[in-house]
Amino acid sequence: MIDDRLNDACGVFGIYAPGLDVARLTYFGLYALQHRGQESAGIAVADDDGQVTVVKELGLVSQVFDERTLASLTGNHAIGHVRYSTTGSTQWQNSQPLVRPRNGSVIALGHNGNLVNTTELRKELLDQGVQFSSATDTEVITALIAQTVDGDLMAATKAAVARIRGAFSATLLTSDAVAGFRDPYGVRPLCLGELEGHHVLASESAAFDILGARFVREVEPGEIVLIDKDGLRSDRVELEGARPAMCIFEFIYFARPDSTLKGRTLHECRQEMGRHLAREAPVEADLVIPVPDTGIPAAIGYSRESGIPYAEGLIKNRYVYRTFIQPDQQLREVGIKMKLNPLNAVIEGKRLVVVDDSIVRGTTTGKIVDMLYGAGAKEVHLRISSPPLCYPCFYGIDMATRAELVAASHDVEEIRRMVGATSLHYLTLEGLQASTGLPKEYFCRACFDGDYPIEVPEELAMCKMRFEGGGADCVP
Ligand code: SF4
Repeated sequence: MIDDRLNDACGVFGIYAPGLDVARLTYFGLYALQHRGQESAGIAVADDDGQVTVVKELGLVSQVFDERTLASLTGNHAIGHVRYSTTGSTQWQNSQPLVRPRNGSVIALGHNGNLVNTTELRKELLDQGVQFSSATDTEVITALIAQTVDGDLMAATKAAVARIRGAFSATLLTSDAVAGFRDPYGVRPLCLGELEGHHVLASESAAFDILGARFVREVEPGEIVLIDKDGLRSDRVELEGARPAMCIFEFIYFARPDSTLKGRTLHECRQEMGRHLAREAPVEADLVIPVPDTGIPAAIGYSRESGIPYAEGLIKNRYVYRTFIQPDQQLREVGIKMKLNPLNAVIEGKRLVVVDDSIVRGTTTGKIVDMLYGAGAKEVHLRISSPPLCYPCFYGIDMATRAELVAASHDVEEIRRMVGATSLHYLTLEGLQASTGLPKEYFCRACFDGDYPIEVPEELAMCKMRFEGGGADCVP
């Protein structure tokens, strides 16, 4: 999916490794997680004296840090964060890790996900005289932990986790420890690894591969792991009525294909989605092409199952990242060309199966179909490796309001006509589920079936669910 994309809401990292260059390792960990957030990057390090230093800035990991910065960040343990904003805008003060004083020292926190009770908790904290410097739900979590000064860090984190609702996977740093915690539903991923006898935390297992670390296990839903000089301790917050609800979109598109979740390599799952698509919607065609990069594994699966040759027909400019410079209207029109260019020699005169992972608003898909016809395609059969997106996300994915989701108000045939494809098929929810190899009870699939596992407060739901207005001034 290009441009008209869903954006993930951050990646987190943490390491407790005295004797190793923890800042540099965090840098490479964040580099591996860059796809989860491209608006800002930050690292917090605690040195031998317990002094905490944070460096964060708007931009990509490679833009924020250089040799000199990393060399200045020495210490025993560190956390890192890459951000895409879901609550609060793209401003420096919203970048993470966020820092707060606690018990004569400071804590630093990086968060992936989205709370659904931010408004209520923020108000409560404001009434108690707590001041906020950002608009993020992350600051609410940080303030709750900082505020609990009785007991140790584990007790304070447990108290905060018991109060916050929604999706959160986070890493936390103090002068002498690193912690990681995950919401009781396990919506966003968080993994535990091992590097030369030290503990590492990361949103995705692919970050461990890059560091040469070993994947140990996922942090369990509701689990808090605390790592300090005495090793690793684990505790748990049980929430009545909570069930596992990992975001199924992590399987479809968000997480890297070389990451594993619940024991499944996502590249394999995505190929399986393509195989299912080929069985559900066979078609006579000459070539299967992906919308790169995220459509690639499913296109390979479709090709293998159908026997139709796989080819690259759209070339992606791999160096286009999220930019702060908005294109003017004229450039917006050609915007998709900045990212994708058709290979005319491959496409001309061919009947194409085009595989993409999702359709959000449909505008970009229409432009891609136009582009393919412009390059001489005879037929364009669209195959989408997820079901129609009919409901918005409240758990950390930057998704349009329901009014903007094309499938919320149009059936498949109407969408086919809108985008101008010869045929269109979305993977069924059953096909998607089967492709994960896991039972549906493990997942949140709310953007497809409207069954929200974590209750969404009414005013928040009103923002995104209604069909008219309410979009611009609603900040979930
Ligand atoms: S609503 Fe959709 S995108 Fe959001 S957490 Fe659930 S499955 Fe993921």
